[in-house]
Amino acid sequence: MTALPQERRIVTAIPGPKSQELQARRTAAVAQGVGSVLPVFTARAGGGIIEDVDGNRLIDFGSGIAVTSVGASAEAVVRRAAAQLADFTHTCFMVTPYEGYVEVAEALAELTPGDHAKKSALFNSGAEAVENAVKVARAHTKRQAVVVFDHGYHGRTNLTMALTSKNMPYKHGFGPFAPEVYRVPVAYGYRWPTGPQNAGPEAAAQAIDQITKQVGPDNVAAIIIEPLLGEGGFIEPAKGFLPAIRDFAAANGIVFVADEIQSGFCRTGQWFACEDEGIVPDLITTAKGIAGGLPLAAVTGRAEIMDAAHAGGLGGTYGGNPVACAGALGAIETMRDLDLNARAKAIEVTMKARLTAMAEKFEVIGDVRGRGAMIAIELVKDRTTKEPAPEATAALAKACHQEGLLVLTCGTYGNVLRFLPPLVIGEDLLNEGLDIIEQAFARI
Ligand SMILES: *Cc1c(COP(=O)(O)O)cnc(C)c1O
Repeated sequence: MTALPQERRIVTAIPGPKSQELQARRTAAVAQGVGSVLPVFTARAGGGIIEDVDGNRLIDFGSGIAVTSVGASAEAVVRRAAAQLADFTHTCFMVTPYEGYVEVAEALAELTPGDHAKKSALFNSGAEAVENAVKVARAHTKRQAVVVFDHGYHGRTNLTMALTSKNMPYKHGFGPFAPEVYRVPVAYGYRWPTGPQNAGPEAAAQAIDQITKQVGPDNVAAIIIEPLLGEGGFIEPAKGFLPAIRDFAAANGIVFVADEIQSGFCRTGQWFACEDEGIVPDLITTAKGIAGGLPLAAVTGRAEIMDAAHAGGLGGTYGGNPVACAGALGAIETMRDLDLNARAKAIEVTMKARLTAMAEKFEVIGDVRGRGAMIAIELVKDRTTKEPAPEATAALAKACHQEGLLVLTCGTYGNVLRFLPPLVIGEDLLNEGLDIIEQAFARI
């Protein structure tokens, strides 16, 4: 494998002729419900670069949605996964087990917050992990209701669609949804009516009041929250919110589930984002960054809660596939060896300094936020009314794409540009990407 040069290079229009040809075939053969942010077809990827079939090299500020934190071809991931492929591809852990699965569970017990006894179960996707966290919490509490939050995102399967807040594109026309799901306010500081300093306690009080009055705490099996909300707009719940909700859950025998599928595994400069306010969740769901791009997900939590599900009640044909487990062990090895938590913190310093300076020049930037290498800017038409500016957001993303910088958008109102570079991206590429963003703002 030759190392991919860590340089941006644009040699055709974006997308180029070969990508356009492939896009025509794709349109004929692939269901249109499966979208793509940027239809350039990938030939190779690694470090901070994606090389397309036309030979263009794009700077990657997306990591395949926070997945390839260690890069898309990390040495340890490739080495371990290739060795595992040569030994065996699958037996099904529920038929004859293998060590890699156990090793991943041991690593999760060590890395996740809290020093209590922990157990894990492995799955294929984030949505599947969240579904299983609900199964475990219901088995443990013998209760049914699940509480989630405004702007939350938990997946696209039937139960997780119900847990997800935003209708378009995730839910529209796909109902009926699973019952016993209740949504309450989250402390969205930038948009909280009485200001960010009041958002934490006020939103927590409202959420707790709604749970108490509308559901009844004794009926609630689980409260599920992203400690740093992803698809909803990289919303950091205002200080005090998470501890108040955690305390309410603990006082009422409710399983507190941190969905760290996007925010976990060094993304925010810690192994898990909930560590910031000293939160120790009962259960934690992980996926995305866990395995360097191989499909793997997990539910990890207090041993007595995890063991509440009866034998045979959890699992799946491919859950904890041996090649994916090898990839996870390679990804974790890379995170440790390269101290990617420190790297994520350094990325935050560079990005926040540049983006804050841009916010002083460009009125359209309403807010700069996030932690580590999970940074976003929220765009507004007017800083006083905070009216969202989704058109400007789309135009900016497009302008960046044309210059060879892959950026993603998110947010309930479609007005958030989010930046999720691989944690192994070079400082020069990071700054070049920020230059492109600045030029795009200047043009729009
Ligand atoms: C992506 C995501 C999911 C769903 O994961 P999939 O692997 O796409 O099923 C769930 N929760 C959060 C917070 C996510 O970001």
